Amino acid sequence: MEVHVQPRTRSKMFCGCAIGELGDAPNTHVCEVCLGLPGVLPVPNKAAVEACLKTALALGCEIPRHTKFDRKNYMYPDLPKGYQISQYDLPMSINGHLDVGGRKVRIRRVHLEEDTGKLIHAGDKLHKAWESYVDLNRAGVPLMEIVSEPDLRSADEARDYAIELRTLLRTIGASEAEMEKGQMRAEPNISIRREGSSELGVKTELKNINSFRALHRAILFEVERQKQLLEAGDTVVQETRGWSEAEQRTFSQRSKEFAEDYRYFPEPDIPPLELDRAWIEDLRRGLPELPAVRRARLVADHSLPHRDVAVIGADRELADLFDGAVAAGAPAKQVANWIVAEVAPSGKLPSAQNLAELVKLVSDGSITRDQAREVLVESVETGRTPAEIAAEHGHKQVSDESELRVLAEAVIDANPKAAADFRGGKKQAMQALMADLRKRAPQANPKVANELLLKLLG
Ligand SMILES: [Zn+2]
Repeated sequence: MEVHVQPRTRSKMFCGCAIGELGDAPNTHVCEVCLGLPGVLPVPNKAAVEACLKTALALGCEIPRHTKFDRKNYMYPDLPKGYQISQYDLPMSINGHLDVGGRKVRIRRVHLEEDTGKLIHAGDKLHKAWESYVDLNRAGVPLMEIVSEPDLRSADEARDYAIELRTLLRTIGASEAEMEKGQMRAEPNISIRREGSSELGVKTELKNINSFRALHRAILFEVERQKQLLEAGDTVVQETRGWSEAEQRTFSQRSKEFAEDYRYFPEPDIPPLELDRAWIEDLRRGLPELPAVRRARLVADHSLPHRDVAVIGADRELADLFDGAVAAGAPAKQVANWIVAEVAPSGKLPSAQNLAELVKLVSDGSITRDQAREVLVESVETGRTPAEIAAEHGHKQVSDESELRVLAEAVIDANPKAAADFRGGKKQAMQALMADLRKRAPQANPKVANELLLKLLG
């Protein structure tokens, strides 16, 4: 699989143009260099080289002493220079690997290149368009190309690989890797083989897939299509295919029967790069804890269940929040529960200190879980401490049996049907009774109240 990722930089790969945002007016982030005007000289973007090297290091790649850029020549209206600056035989890094669900996926290379512009066809479909427009805002935007060896065996594995790659890129800060913004695009090469055979069949390449869901579906579709062809006695044609989201199928784009000749040659305007070993070692030392190591630590140090590790380990901010709250003295399992159930779905993070305080207020019985949920929301919005907020709202938890008994009796009187249902064996009727009880007295200790209801109904 080839994955193109836009490294996190402010400017383009070989000029000072800003990266811009999706939806900016067309051709507003362009200059002589990225328009391909004659007489200009490209200058490599150091931040892009750094992001590429960090990615390579995080993937365990070897980084050769010398690397160079090459011209890949072809004609297309979205490529004003008539060539793309890429890397051919001396890429920035080679021979890495990424562990995905306990399996090692080998990485062949990670190199740098530039993106092309965008064509907008009036009427959407090329063959039906009466006019086409060219937007060169993306021309010259840096791209890392991450190429794996043919180690992925299914649509599931391909999707998991792409997700793991995104987690890694975000963790090390090399890219936002947001697929919906075109910052990460997957191009799986797909071939099938007879059971027991070690020879890979003819492959097709799927272009520019921009969601994990589409990646999964496109591969499933393509495997099935190839299978049907072979079973009908036909052959698979080596070609590039696109994925139609609307029709949920792949379609032929261009045949690779006559392999393209890109006439690669060294970019004469950029001298080969000699990568400073000291710089590379600095980058290596500066890498944060990588996702696989982090997940192993969450299991080893805190015995968190797989489900919690999957959520917390996939996001550096959540993992840092977890570590911070535990360091502040809150019990690990409860912190994990709050992060997985409340913080992660809301996407809004409290400070580690405040989360720790909240968890402690609940676990020592000072406030109920329902109250704590409200306190959390308010704490995230205002930044104030949970203890302050709870005190201000007069939140406390009532565990006193005599007080709660009066309440439980009132709830049973007010809900004769639910009470009768429960006595008749419908255990789920308890939910309605508890809901009414919590509405009347949010401060009631739910565990004690539940026991009282059971006793009174028994
Ligand atoms: Zn430019």
